[in-house]
Amino acid sequence: MANYDFFQHRECEYFPCHSGADPETFSCLFCYCPLYCLGENCGGSYRYTEEGIKDCSHCLRPHLRKNYASICEKMEEVLKLTKKSAPKAEKP
Ligand code: SF4
Repeated sequence: MANYDFFQHRECEYFPCHSGADPETFSCLFCYCPLYCLGENCGGSYRYTEEGIKDCSHCLRPHLRKNYASICEKMEEVLKLTKKSAPKAEKP
């Protein structure tokens, strides 16, 4: 446990923004989950709506301090999504 792995913004109008979440343990550090872009590979408890939208309203994974390290470990996969491909070398 460190000082940087947990943060609360209790004055936020939505705190805690998931219904049923414990306000004492709710972390706002990953307010918007950085793993959303991983789709079905985020490791959380999402569902997809009939319209095909990923719905994370029942997932507390990014809001629990104990998950800080595992969220950071998944960032490697997020970085791969955003990596620019190296230009292909031209043939002589
Ligand atoms: S909030 Fe949960 S379900 Fe949604 S992307 Fe993050 S880990 Fe996955």
